[in-house]
Amino acid sequence: MKVLLTGGSGFIATHCLEALLKHGHDVVATVRSPAKGQALVDIFKGQNVSYTIVKDIAEPHAFDEAVKSDPPFDAVVHTASPFHYEVKDNKKDMLDPAISGTTGILESIHKSAKTVKRVVITSSFAAISNPSSPPKVYDETIWNQMTMDEALTTKDPQAAYRASKTFAEQAAWDFVKRESPNFALTVLNPPMVYGPVRHAVSSLEDLNTSSKRILNIILGRPRGTVGSPIHVDVRDLAEAHVLAITVPEAAGQRFFMTAGFATEGAMGDIIRERFPDYAKNLDPGLSYAVPPYGIDNKKSIRLLRLKYRPVEDTIIDTVKSLQALGA
Ligand code: NDP
Repeated sequence: MKVLLTGGSGFIATHCLEALLKHGHDVVATVRSPAKGQALVDIFKGQNVSYTIVKDIAEPHAFDEAVKSDPPFDAVVHTASPFHYEVKDNKKDMLDPAISGTTGILESIHKSAKTVKRVVITSSFAAISNPSSPPKVYDETIWNQMTMDEALTTKDPQAAYRASKTFAEQAAWDFVKRESPNFALTVLNPPMVYGPVRHAVSSLEDLNTSSKRILNIILGRPRGTVGSPIHVDVRDLAEAHVLAITVPEAAGQRFFMTAGFATEGAMGDIIRERFPDYAKNLDPGLSYAVPPYGIDNKKSIRLLRLKYRPVEDTIIDTVKSLQALGA
Protein backbone atom coordinates (compact mmCIF):
# COMPACT_ATOMS: atom_id res chain seq x y z
CA MET A 1 0.00 0.00 0.00
CA LYS A 2 0.99 3.62 -0.35
CA VAL A 3 0.60 5.29 3.04
CA LEU A 4 0.57 8.92 4.21
CA LEU A 5 2.01 9.21 7.73
CA THR A 6 1.49 12.50 9.59
CA GLY A 7 3.90 13.89 12.20
CA GLY A 8 6.64 11.71 10.70
CA SER A 9 9.42 13.20 12.82
CA GLY A 10 7.84 12.10 16.11
CA PHE A 11 8.79 9.31 18.53
CA ILE A 12 5.86 7.02 17.73
CA ALA A 13 5.63 7.99 14.04
CA THR A 14 9.24 7.02 13.35
CA HIS A 15 8.50 3.53 14.69
CA CYS A 16 5.30 3.44 12.62
CA LEU A 17 7.38 4.33 9.59
CA GLU A 18 9.83 1.54 10.35
CA ALA A 19 6.98 -0.97 10.78
CA LEU A 20 5.24 0.17 7.58
CA LEU A 21 8.48 -0.20 5.59
CA LYS A 22 9.16 -3.61 7.15
CA HIS A 23 5.73 -4.76 5.91
CA GLY A 24 6.56 -3.57 2.39
CA HIS A 25 4.49 -0.39 2.23
CA ASP A 26 5.60 2.86 0.54
CA VAL A 27 5.42 5.84 2.89
CA VAL A 28 5.17 9.61 2.47
CA ALA A 29 5.62 11.34 5.83
CA THR A 30 4.42 14.85 6.67
CA VAL A 31 6.96 16.92 8.61
CA ARG A 32 7.18 20.57 9.55
CA SER A 33 10.45 21.39 7.76
CA PRO A 34 12.78 20.08 5.03
CA ALA A 35 15.46 19.45 7.70
CA LYS A 36 13.11 17.14 9.62
CA GLY A 37 12.17 15.39 6.38
CA GLN A 38 15.80 14.90 5.40
CA ALA A 39 16.58 13.49 8.86
CA LEU A 40 13.86 10.89 8.31
CA VAL A 41 15.12 9.99 4.83
CA ASP A 42 18.62 9.62 6.31
CA ILE A 43 17.41 7.27 9.06
CA PHE A 44 15.71 5.01 6.49
CA LYS A 45 18.26 5.49 3.69
CA GLY A 46 17.50 3.59 0.47
CA GLN A 47 13.98 2.63 1.54
CA ASN A 48 10.60 3.65 0.12
CA VAL A 49 10.17 6.82 2.13
CA SER A 50 9.77 10.45 1.12
CA TYR A 51 8.35 13.52 2.84
CA THR A 52 6.06 16.45 2.31
CA ILE A 53 5.81 19.63 4.36
CA VAL A 54 2.82 20.43 6.59
CA LYS A 55 4.00 23.29 8.79
CA ASP A 56 1.05 23.55 11.13
CA ILE A 57 -1.76 21.03 11.32
CA ALA A 58 -3.98 23.61 13.08
CA GLU A 59 -4.17 25.72 9.90
CA PRO A 60 -7.32 25.33 7.77
CA HIS A 61 -6.72 23.06 4.74
CA ALA A 62 -3.25 22.14 6.09
CA PHE A 63 -3.41 18.68 4.49
CA ASP A 64 -5.14 19.59 1.22
CA GLU A 65 -1.98 19.18 -0.88
CA ALA A 66 -0.33 16.46 1.21
CA VAL A 67 -3.14 13.95 0.60
CA LYS A 68 -2.72 14.26 -3.21
CA SER A 69 -0.17 11.86 -4.65
CA ASP A 70 0.64 9.92 -7.79
CA PRO A 71 0.14 7.00 -7.50
CA PRO A 72 -2.56 7.87 -4.97
CA PHE A 73 -2.63 6.88 -1.30
CA ASP A 74 -4.37 3.74 -0.05
CA ALA A 75 -4.18 4.50 3.66
CA VAL A 76 -3.39 7.27 6.14
CA VAL A 77 -1.76 7.04 9.59
CA HIS A 78 -2.45 10.22 11.57
CA THR A 79 -0.13 10.58 14.58
CA ALA A 80 0.59 14.34 14.56
CA SER A 81 -0.71 16.11 17.66
CA PRO A 82 0.98 18.06 20.45
CA PHE A 83 2.04 15.93 23.42
CA HIS A 84 3.77 18.07 26.05
CA TYR A 85 2.90 19.80 29.29
CA GLU A 86 4.24 23.30 28.42
CA VAL A 87 0.75 24.65 27.90
CA LYS A 88 0.23 28.41 28.07
CA ASP A 89 -2.99 28.67 26.09
CA ASN A 90 -5.15 25.52 26.19
CA LYS A 91 -6.94 26.35 22.95
CA LYS A 92 -4.00 27.47 20.84
CA ASP A 93 -1.34 25.09 22.17
CA MET A 94 -3.41 21.91 22.56
CA LEU A 95 -7.05 21.90 21.47
CA ASP A 96 -6.73 23.58 18.07
CA PRO A 97 -3.89 21.47 16.63
CA ALA A 98 -5.36 18.24 18.02
CA ILE A 99 -8.94 18.85 16.90
CA SER A 100 -8.42 20.85 13.69
CA GLY A 101 -5.50 18.60 12.76
CA THR A 102 -7.77 15.57 12.99
CA THR A 103 -10.84 17.01 11.28
CA GLY A 104 -8.56 18.71 8.74
CA ILE A 105 -6.91 15.53 7.55
CA LEU A 106 -10.23 13.67 7.38
CA GLU A 107 -11.78 16.49 5.34
CA SER A 108 -8.82 16.59 2.95
CA ILE A 109 -8.94 12.81 2.43
CA HIS A 110 -12.70 12.90 1.91
CA LYS A 111 -12.39 15.73 -0.61
CA SER A 112 -9.24 14.88 -2.54
CA ALA A 113 -8.07 11.32 -1.82
CA LYS A 114 -10.98 9.01 -2.57
CA THR A 115 -8.62 6.04 -3.04
CA VAL A 116 -7.86 6.01 0.69
CA LYS A 117 -9.73 3.06 2.18
CA ARG A 118 -8.25 2.90 5.68
CA VAL A 119 -7.33 5.59 8.20
CA VAL A 120 -5.83 5.05 11.65
CA ILE A 121 -5.60 7.81 14.23
CA THR A 122 -3.30 7.73 17.25
CA SER A 123 -5.61 8.81 20.02
CA SER A 124 -4.70 8.07 23.64
CA PHE A 125 -5.71 6.59 26.96
CA ALA A 126 -6.18 10.29 27.70
CA ALA A 127 -9.43 10.06 25.72
CA ILE A 128 -10.56 7.12 27.86
CA SER A 129 -9.40 8.17 31.30
CA ASN A 130 -11.58 9.75 34.00
CA PRO A 131 -9.16 10.53 36.82
CA SER A 132 -11.79 11.91 39.20
CA SER A 133 -14.21 8.97 38.87
CA PRO A 134 -12.43 5.96 37.35
CA PRO A 135 -14.50 2.88 36.45
CA LYS A 136 -13.77 -0.56 37.90
CA VAL A 137 -12.05 -1.56 34.66
CA TYR A 138 -10.90 0.65 31.81
CA ASP A 139 -11.46 -0.59 28.28
CA GLU A 140 -12.23 1.02 24.92
CA THR A 141 -15.95 1.44 25.71
CA ILE A 142 -15.09 4.22 28.15
CA TRP A 143 -14.74 7.91 27.34
CA ASN A 144 -13.16 10.83 29.17
CA GLN A 145 -16.14 12.92 30.33
CA MET A 146 -14.49 16.37 30.33
CA THR A 147 -16.56 19.27 28.99
CA MET A 148 -15.23 21.84 26.50
CA ASP A 149 -15.66 24.51 29.14
CA GLU A 150 -13.34 22.58 31.50
CA ALA A 151 -10.96 21.94 28.62
CA LEU A 152 -10.66 25.64 27.87
CA THR A 153 -10.24 26.78 31.48
CA THR A 154 -8.27 24.07 33.29
CA LYS A 155 -4.90 25.15 34.66
CA ASP A 156 -3.68 21.52 34.69
CA PRO A 157 -1.59 20.92 31.54
CA GLN A 158 -2.21 17.18 31.72
CA ALA A 159 -5.96 17.78 31.76
CA ALA A 160 -5.61 20.12 28.77
CA TYR A 161 -3.74 17.37 26.91
CA ARG A 162 -6.36 14.77 27.86
CA ALA A 163 -9.07 17.12 26.61
CA SER A 164 -7.25 17.68 23.31
CA LYS A 165 -7.13 13.95 22.63
CA THR A 166 -10.74 13.40 23.73
CA PHE A 167 -12.28 16.13 21.59
CA ALA A 168 -10.06 15.26 18.61
CA GLU A 169 -11.11 11.61 18.74
CA GLN A 170 -14.77 12.48 19.20
CA ALA A 171 -14.55 14.80 16.20
CA ALA A 172 -13.12 11.95 14.12
CA TRP A 173 -15.93 9.52 14.96
CA ASP A 174 -18.50 12.31 14.41
CA PHE A 175 -16.97 13.03 11.00
CA VAL A 176 -17.27 9.41 9.90
CA LYS A 177 -20.86 9.18 11.13
CA ARG A 178 -21.83 12.43 9.43
CA GLU A 179 -20.00 12.09 6.10
CA SER A 180 -19.92 8.29 5.50
CA PRO A 181 -16.56 8.65 3.72
CA ASN A 182 -14.90 6.08 1.43
CA PHE A 183 -12.49 5.08 4.21
CA ALA A 184 -12.94 3.06 7.39
CA LEU A 185 -11.58 4.60 10.58
CA THR A 186 -9.62 2.80 13.29
CA VAL A 187 -8.49 4.53 16.48
CA LEU A 188 -5.70 3.36 18.80
CA ASN A 189 -5.69 4.53 22.43
CA PRO A 190 -2.28 3.92 24.01
CA PRO A 191 -1.28 4.99 27.54
CA MET A 192 2.37 5.95 28.25
CA VAL A 193 4.50 4.75 25.34
CA TYR A 194 8.10 3.71 26.00
CA GLY A 195 10.82 2.00 23.98
CA PRO A 196 13.89 2.81 21.93
CA VAL A 197 14.21 6.37 20.62
CA ARG A 198 14.43 6.01 16.86
CA HIS A 199 13.63 9.58 15.74
CA ALA A 200 16.18 12.38 15.30
CA VAL A 201 16.68 14.32 18.54
CA SER A 202 18.99 17.32 18.72
CA SER A 203 19.65 16.85 22.45
CA LEU A 204 18.35 14.89 25.42
CA GLU A 205 16.36 17.96 26.45
CA ASP A 206 14.55 17.75 23.12
CA LEU A 207 13.16 14.28 23.84
CA ASN A 208 9.47 13.48 23.48
CA THR A 209 7.40 13.59 26.67
CA SER A 210 7.12 9.87 27.47
CA SER A 211 10.81 9.11 26.84
CA LYS A 212 11.71 12.08 29.02
CA ARG A 213 9.88 10.47 31.92
CA ILE A 214 12.32 7.52 31.82
CA LEU A 215 15.26 9.91 31.31
CA ASN A 216 14.22 11.84 34.42
CA ILE A 217 13.97 8.60 36.41
CA ILE A 218 17.45 7.36 35.44
CA LEU A 219 19.03 10.76 36.08
CA GLY A 220 17.15 11.23 39.37
CA ARG A 221 15.56 14.46 38.17
CA PRO A 222 12.28 15.92 39.41
CA ARG A 223 9.49 14.37 37.36
CA GLY A 224 6.75 16.96 37.84
CA THR A 225 3.76 15.98 35.75
CA VAL A 226 4.35 12.29 35.26
CA GLY A 227 1.49 10.55 33.45
CA SER A 228 -0.26 7.26 34.12
CA PRO A 229 1.29 4.01 35.44
CA ILE A 230 0.03 2.12 32.37
CA HIS A 231 2.24 1.49 29.38
CA VAL A 232 2.80 0.00 25.96
CA ASP A 233 5.96 -0.61 23.96
CA VAL A 234 6.36 1.74 21.00
CA ARG A 235 7.30 -1.19 18.73
CA ASP A 236 4.08 -3.05 19.58
CA LEU A 237 2.09 0.15 19.08
CA ALA A 238 3.76 0.73 15.71
CA GLU A 239 2.88 -2.82 14.63
CA ALA A 240 -0.69 -2.13 15.73
CA HIS A 241 -0.82 0.92 13.43
CA VAL A 242 0.07 -1.34 10.50
CA LEU A 243 -2.51 -3.95 11.57
CA ALA A 244 -5.09 -1.17 11.97
CA ILE A 245 -4.89 -0.37 8.25
CA THR A 246 -4.60 -3.97 7.05
CA VAL A 247 -6.68 -6.27 9.26
CA PRO A 248 -10.31 -6.22 8.03
CA GLU A 249 -11.72 -6.69 11.57
CA ALA A 250 -9.98 -3.49 12.73
CA ALA A 251 -12.14 -1.27 10.51
CA GLY A 252 -14.47 0.96 12.52
CA GLN A 253 -12.93 -0.07 15.85
CA ARG A 254 -11.41 1.69 18.86
CA PHE A 255 -8.60 -0.17 20.68
CA PHE A 256 -7.17 0.36 24.18
CA MET A 257 -3.54 -0.49 23.46
CA THR A 258 -1.76 -1.48 26.64
CA ALA A 259 0.64 -4.17 27.82
CA GLY A 260 -0.26 -3.56 31.48
CA PHE A 261 0.72 -1.57 34.56
CA ALA A 262 4.24 -0.14 34.86
CA THR A 263 4.59 1.82 38.08
CA GLU A 264 7.63 4.04 38.52
CA GLY A 265 8.67 1.73 41.38
CA ALA A 266 8.56 -1.35 39.14
CA MET A 267 10.42 0.45 36.35
CA GLY A 268 12.99 1.60 38.91
CA ASP A 269 13.55 -2.03 39.99
CA ILE A 270 14.26 -3.07 36.40
CA ILE A 271 16.70 -0.17 35.99
CA ARG A 272 18.41 -0.90 39.35
CA GLU A 273 18.96 -4.53 38.42
CA ARG A 274 20.08 -4.05 34.82
CA PHE A 275 21.84 -0.67 34.95
CA PRO A 276 23.80 -0.45 38.23
CA ASP A 277 25.36 2.85 37.08
CA TYR A 278 21.97 4.56 37.30
CA ALA A 279 20.93 2.87 40.58
CA LYS A 280 22.42 5.63 42.72
CA ASN A 281 20.34 8.27 40.89
CA LEU A 282 16.98 6.61 41.46
CA ASP A 283 14.57 8.44 43.74
CA PRO A 284 13.91 6.09 46.71
CA GLY A 285 10.33 7.40 46.70
CA LEU A 286 9.38 5.98 43.28
CA SER A 287 5.80 4.80 43.70
CA TYR A 288 4.68 1.17 43.48
CA ALA A 289 1.04 2.18 43.94
CA VAL A 290 -1.18 0.33 41.49
CA PRO A 291 -4.32 2.34 40.71
CA PRO A 292 -7.70 1.29 42.12
CA TYR A 293 -8.99 0.33 38.66
CA GLY A 294 -8.32 -2.60 36.34
CA ILE A 295 -7.34 -2.45 32.66
CA ASP A 296 -8.60 -4.69 29.85
CA ASN A 297 -6.56 -5.06 26.63
CA LYS A 298 -8.32 -8.20 25.38
CA LYS A 299 -9.89 -6.57 22.33
CA SER A 300 -6.51 -5.57 20.91
CA ILE A 301 -5.18 -9.10 21.41
CA ARG A 302 -8.29 -10.74 19.94
CA LEU A 303 -8.88 -8.58 16.86
CA LEU A 304 -5.38 -7.35 16.04
CA ARG A 305 -3.77 -10.60 17.21
CA LEU A 306 -1.09 -8.50 18.85
CA LYS A 307 1.40 -10.01 21.28
CA TYR A 308 2.61 -7.40 23.79
CA ARG A 309 6.22 -7.65 24.87
CA PRO A 310 7.13 -7.75 28.57
CA VAL A 311 7.79 -4.48 30.39
CA GLU A 312 11.38 -5.57 31.18
CA ASP A 313 12.25 -5.59 27.45
CA THR A 314 10.61 -2.20 26.99
CA ILE A 315 12.42 -0.50 29.86
CA ILE A 316 15.80 -2.12 29.15
CA ASP A 317 15.67 -1.08 25.49
CA THR A 318 14.49 2.43 26.41
CA VAL A 319 17.38 2.94 28.82
CA LYS A 320 19.92 1.50 26.35
CA SER A 321 18.77 3.97 23.73
CA LEU A 322 18.90 6.89 26.17
CA GLN A 323 22.43 5.79 27.10
CA ALA A 324 23.36 5.83 23.42
CA LEU A 325 22.04 9.41 23.25
CA GLY A 326 24.40 10.43 26.07
CA ALA A 327 22.31 9.96 29.24
P1 NDP B 1 6.15 13.54 19.53
O1 NDP B 1 6.15 14.88 20.18
O2 NDP B 1 7.43 12.82 19.39
O3 NDP B 1 5.42 13.63 18.12
C1 NDP B 1 4.41 14.52 17.84
C2 NDP B 1 4.45 14.83 16.37
O4 NDP B 1 3.37 15.73 16.04
C3 NDP B 1 5.74 15.53 15.97
O5 NDP B 1 6.15 15.09 14.70
C4 NDP B 1 5.32 16.99 15.90
O6 NDP B 1 6.13 17.77 15.04
C5 NDP B 1 3.91 16.85 15.36
N1 NDP B 1 3.12 18.05 15.64
C6 NDP B 1 2.66 18.48 16.85
N2 NDP B 1 1.99 19.64 16.72
C7 NDP B 1 2.02 19.95 15.40
C8 NDP B 1 1.52 21.03 14.62
N3 NDP B 1 0.82 22.02 15.18
N4 NDP B 1 1.75 21.03 13.29
C9 NDP B 1 2.46 20.03 12.70
N5 NDP B 1 2.95 18.98 13.38
C10 NDP B 1 2.74 18.93 14.71
O7 NDP B 1 5.12 12.68 20.40
P2 NDP B 1 4.70 11.15 20.33
O8 NDP B 1 5.36 10.46 19.23
O9 NDP B 1 4.82 10.64 21.68
O10 NDP B 1 3.14 11.33 20.01
C11 NDP B 1 2.55 10.98 18.77
C12 NDP B 1 1.09 10.78 18.96
O11 NDP B 1 0.84 9.76 19.93
C13 NDP B 1 0.34 12.03 19.47
O12 NDP B 1 -0.91 12.05 18.83
C14 NDP B 1 0.15 11.74 20.96
O13 NDP B 1 -0.96 12.39 21.50
C15 NDP B 1 -0.05 10.22 20.93
N6 NDP B 1 0.25 9.55 22.18
C16 NDP B 1 1.52 9.51 22.69
C17 NDP B 1 1.78 8.83 23.87
C18 NDP B 1 3.15 8.68 24.45
O14 NDP B 1 3.29 8.21 25.58
N7 NDP B 1 4.22 9.04 23.73
C19 NDP B 1 0.69 8.20 24.62
C20 NDP B 1 -0.60 8.28 23.98
C21 NDP B 1 -0.81 8.92 22.79
P3 NDP B 1 7.38 18.62 15.63
O15 NDP B 1 8.20 17.63 16.42
O16 NDP B 1 8.04 19.14 14.44
O17 NDP B 1 6.76 19.66 16.52
